[in-house]
Amino acid sequence: MSTVLVTGASRGIGAACALGFAKAGYDVAVNYCHSKDSAIALTEEIKALGVRAFAVCADVSDSAQVKAMFEAVRAELGAVEVLVNNAGISHAGLLTDMTDDEWKRLMDTDLSGTFYCCREGLRDMLRAHSGVIVNIASMWGEVGASCEAAYSAAKAGVIGLTKALAKEVGLSGVRVNAVSPGVIMTDMMAQYSDDDIAALKDETPLNTLGTPEDIAQAAVFLASDKARFITGQVLSVNGGFVI
Ligand code: NAP
Repeated sequence: MSTVLVTGASRGIGAACALGFAKAGYDVAVNYCHSKDSAIALTEEIKALGVRAFAVCADVSDSAQVKAMFEAVRAELGAVEVLVNNAGISHAGLLTDMTDDEWKRLMDTDLSGTFYCCREGLRDMLRAHSGVIVNIASMWGEVGASCEAAYSAAKAGVIGLTKALAKEVGLSGVRVNAVSPGVIMTDMMAQYSDDDIAALKDETPLNTLGTPEDIAQAAVFLASDKARFITGQVLSVNGGFVI
């Protein structure tokens, strides 16, 4: 049985990924930062599927907490064989209004958090000469979004990290890919008005918005042997919003 660690799995896309991997037979480490109750509830739901689950608190922007998280997961479920770097925050507003602290918090969470988790996860993967990393990027990291410049920069960084790392660790038997979501209805979309969301839907060629499960399916696929020849790629799951 393989072990997957999904960061930011207490809600939204991360929670759907955790459930998707559980349904595929993985033991699942559910990372959360603030939403303890929903993380615990999710582990109960996962255990009912007949696999093991473990809720683990860590702020991914803190490298010491990330290190402790991997140690806790190793002790509870064994070494992480699949790592899904999903934890993230967004920030809407003009770049000229953004404070140093807001910029730093976003970069620390979305980009440095992914780096810290890759670094820790790779220790066991390189030893085992196998493993898979799936980074959750964003279509804004591919094409940029007005009033989300910092977020776009962080996610473009995640895409660059994915490609470079795939080249670095391929010979060591580790695959690294990204899933790049379009508009997915989660708490992260709460900052948008109903009119904004309707406009985003209209702009989407498939004329529908994405669900967390759409992203989970892509992550489970990239982690599976069906994707054994796929590395360093960005799988855009966006209904055609960015082509
Ligand atoms: P969400 O509903 O706001 O959930 C965010 C998750 O990240 C929560 O589980 C939260 O945990 C966790 N998190 C935030 N900061 C954290 C930290 N410092 N350490 C650990 N966990 C942290 O967001 P979502 O829409 O599911 O987004 C998930 C990922 O998809 C993000 O990387 C986001 O950028 C990306 N994405 C989303 C969309 C979209 O349209 N929704 C589009 C493109 C990309 P707690 O609640 O426990 O703090």
